Amino acid sequence: MPHEQPQTQSTNIHHLRVGDFVVTTIQDAYLQGGFGLITNLDDSTVQDLHAASRRPTPPKITLNCYLVDTGDERILIDTGLGVLVGDEGARLEAGLSEMGLSRADIDRVILTHSHPDHLGGLIDKDDKPIFPQADVWVPAGELAFWRGDVPADASDMLRNQFASAQRVFDACAANLREIENDEIRPGITRYPLPGHTPDHSGYRIASNGENLLIAADIVHLPQIQFARPDAHVMFDTDPAQAVRSRQALFAEVAESGEPIAGHHIDFPGIGYVVADGDGYRFLPHVWSPFV
Ligand SMILES: [Zn+2]
Ligand SMILES: [Zn+2]
Repeated sequence: MPHEQPQTQSTNIHHLRVGDFVVTTIQDAYLQGGFGLITNLDDSTVQDLHAASRRPTPPKITLNCYLVDTGDERILIDTGLGVLVGDEGARLEAGLSEMGLSRADIDRVILTHSHPDHLGGLIDKDDKPIFPQADVWVPAGELAFWRGDVPADASDMLRNQFASAQRVFDACAANLREIENDEIRPGITRYPLPGHTPDHSGYRIASNGENLLIAADIVHLPQIQFARPDAHVMFDTDPAQAVRSRQALFAEVAESGEPIAGHHIDFPGIGYVVADGDGYRFLPHVWSPFV
């Protein structure tokens, strides 16, 4: 008799201890991507790098959120697609419930930037805040740009991104906090990575001698952009500046050995960057049953 085989993974969460903190990756979605996301490399380069990675074609894109538990605060770094999702997610809340957490257990939200796949999880379908007791901290330049006027020459994609950001920021207006000082609290420091969006930011988590640099959208297609950090992505508001930010970060962490996390690096989205020829290579963190 045929029996039923597994259809889903049993969990979308992964814990990593960083000193006295625990950083949990919660995979929100696994999205359909496309080679057209890369705008400045020739097709054969993109196809060859992708084929060498043995990934499914057309390419899929992982979307993670990160929960930082400091022991006295639970801080969510980005919230996934939420209501802005199609039918490919969003699993943030399922991940929180798997941990035994409810919406009320989130003390604070910090955003890396204002794209829909990072802030959609802040509101429900009636535009009510999902985490009403949590302040939402946003890099100052992100608020200034996305709450400002839509540029006259904006593409349809950029107009849609503005509409999503403004919808969420309006719904959460009472809780919005502008990040002015890079030290957000002891152990969490903003790391500016401008270019993907005007004030796109990573966050360095540091506790008791250990570090993790949560590097937000430093890559979208890791199989291409570690080897070719010069690759532009169609979502970048300033692709040349995004490349400079990516090159500088890769050079720094390849030298220092500091682990990084990325919202679009494959689950659990944590690992090391090493120099490899003219580019870099990503070495995934090895899963351990103990946190
Ligand atoms: Zn983005
Ligand atoms: Zn993103």
